[in-house]
Parts: sequence; structure tokens; C-alpha cells
Amino acid sequence: WDMFVLAFIERAFQQSYRKDDFVIGKKLGEGAFGVVYKVSLAKKGSPKEDLVLKKATEYGAVEIWMNERVRRACANSCADFVYGFLERSSKTKGGEYWLIWRFEGEDTLSDFMLSKEFPYNVEAKILGEGQGLEKGLERENRIIQTIIRQLLFALDGLHSTGIVHRDIKPQNVIFSEGSRIFKIIDLGAAADLRVGINYIPKEFLLDPRYTAPEQYIMSTQTPSAPSAPVATALSPVLWQMNLPDRFDIYSVGLIFLQMVFPALRTDNGLIQFNRQLKRCNYDLDTWRSTVEPRAGPDLRKGFELLDLDGGIGWELITSMVRFKARQRTSAKAALAHPYFNSEGMLGLSFMQ
Ligand code: ADP
Ligand code: MG
Repeated sequence: WDMFVLAFIERAFQQSYRKDDFVIGKKLGEGAFGVVYKVSLAKKGSPKEDLVLKKATEYGAVEIWMNERVRRACANSCADFVYGFLERSSKTKGGEYWLIWRFEGEDTLSDFMLSKEFPYNVEAKILGEGQGLEKGLERENRIIQTIIRQLLFALDGLHSTGIVHRDIKPQNVIFSEGSRIFKIIDLGAAADLRVGINYIPKEFLLDPRYTAPEQYIMSTQTPSAPSAPVATALSPVLWQMNLPDRFDIYSVGLIFLQMVFPALRTDNGLIQFNRQLKRCNYDLDTWRSTVEPRAGPDLRKGFELLDLDGGIGWELITSMVRFKARQRTSAKAALAHPYFNSEGMLGLSFMQ
């Protein structure tokens, strides 16, 4: 109950807002369940700070819950949440939920990845310029390594809190110019398993390009959870039984593949890859053995990158993209993987 008391106290002392407090600016995104705008505060003399507003329909309540939980338990994993409220209106039945965040920056990971400069366009933001390395595999590997590490770090925070995101994709990873790290956004499809919020998966919300093959995070045999927050004691058991966090890990694995293989960065490229992988029964080694013999230079370069340092990159990626959730690594275990302390080949090539 601590959590609820805390939430109540926090709410009582928090700055609160209403519709008229905001001046709506540029539209940043539009999904099936809401529209997102850049906004600022209307009141004269209020801070000039940029904010983000999402006007959401029925699922807004869940998204507010998730964001408040994240702010208390693992604030650095996600975009800074400011406030959420229900805006009643005569036009829309039941009203609209308004969610407000700090504006973290212009670019999502998707924006960076769609540029020809990727991954060098991210380098100065997270590592500093060049670091004396020439452009090439090792330097690219270090940048990609750093992005994946930040992504796993953020996910580990969510998972340790009991939240599965379920919509991990480059469009939902924002670069925070203030903190100079990648953060996760869009908890609209997330599930909080410790308290049974949004426990029944909304499959139709999920992006088929990045979803793990199991699709449902909980086996269909598990009894449907109560929707009120009474399942606290029960949920850790369910968590261990079903390993729902591994659903997000699969998506991270796909993002990792997209970073390494430029051909997978387009929608069509990714869809085609998913088809190939399915034909290989979701076995990456099998996929590799079918495509490598007739691989062009881009694909070959990707395998070369993953083969650096005795193939630890390939080892990590294959431990994320697996058919069985049970056999996938967790975010925490992945962070301890030797891929992340290999320092590229810097040390080795210096010694040689
Ligand atoms: P949707 O449900 O439309 O996918 P998102 O929460 O993913 O909603 O937001 C849509 C887009 O708005 C994002 O892809 C991103 O470009 C931008 N955006 C969302 N939150 C922020 C934020 N805190 N700072 C900057 N940009 C954001
Ligand atoms: Mg989104």
C-alpha cells in the first residue's frame, strides 16, 4: 500500500494543470489511440520550457498509471513525465486523457537510423568525436554497443519495476539532449504485471514488425488477472513462469540487427527479414547460413562487425533473438555480457 499512499501524497502537492494552461504547437505523431504535440505553458512568466502533450483515448488512463509508476521507480528509463489528467468534454464521450512530458529532444532512434550517416550521427552525442579511431567496423561497433547498452539499461529499469513495454522499436526510443542518453517513450501498450494493470494483452496495439513470435506475453493458460491492484503477491510468480520481459528483449534484438545490417532498416527490409527468419524457425544461425554464402558487401560487413572479438556480438544477438522466450537472455544478464566490456578491438590492436 506504500505505493498508493505515496502516489496520493505526491498528487496532493504536485503542480496540477488543465487544458487551458497549454499552447499547442507542432504535431509530433499520431497513432490509432492518440495524437502527440509539442506544447508550451500559456501563462505569462511561466518557464519557456518545451513540453510534449499526448491526447489519448480510453487507454490514456493506463498510460498515466505507467508513467507515474516509472517516475517513482525508474525515472531515468523513460522520458520525464510531468502530469496526466482527464479532460472532460461534451464532444467526446468520457473525455480525453492528457499526458504531459518534458520535451527530450527532436530525434528518435528511428530518425538517426534512417540517416545515411548512422551510426556516426549518434557518436558525438553519446561518446564524443571520433576518439582517434578511423571510420570503420570497430568504431561503428563501439557506437552501436553504447546505444544497445543504454537501451538495455533503460529496459532493465522497467523490467525490475515489473513493467513490460511491449512496443519497443526505434520510434519509441528518444535521445534526451539534456541527459545525453537514449530513453524509452510510449508506455501506451505497457503492462504492469506486479499489480495486474493491463494484464490482458492488447495484441492489436502491438507493432507486428517488432513483436516476438509468442505475441502474447502471458501464456493463454494463466487465469485472467484481476484488474484491481490486488494481485501483488501473486504476480512475481507469474512473472517467473512466463518471463514476459523476454518479449521486449526480442524487440531489442531486432533493433540490434537493424543497426548492424542497413538493409533491415527500411520497413520492407525488416518485413522481408522477419519472413526469412520465420522460414528458418526463428533460428539466427540457420538464417546466417542461408544468406551468408550469397551476401553482398553490406551484409558481409554486418557479420564481420558481429564477429569482432571472437564473435561476442553474434553471441549476444543470438541470445536475444530466439523463438522460445525462456531461452532468451534478460536485460540484466545481457548487460553483463562480455560484448559490453570488449572496448571494441582498441586494446587488442594496440597490443599487437
Ligand atoms: P504514439 O502513440 O503516437 O506512438 P509516442 O508516445 O510514441 O506516441 O509519441 C509520438 C512521437 O512524439 C514520438 O515518436 C516522438 O517523436 C515524439 N515524442 C514523444 N514523447 C516525446 C518526448 N518526451 N520528447 C520529445 N519527443 C517526444
Ligand atoms: Mg510511439
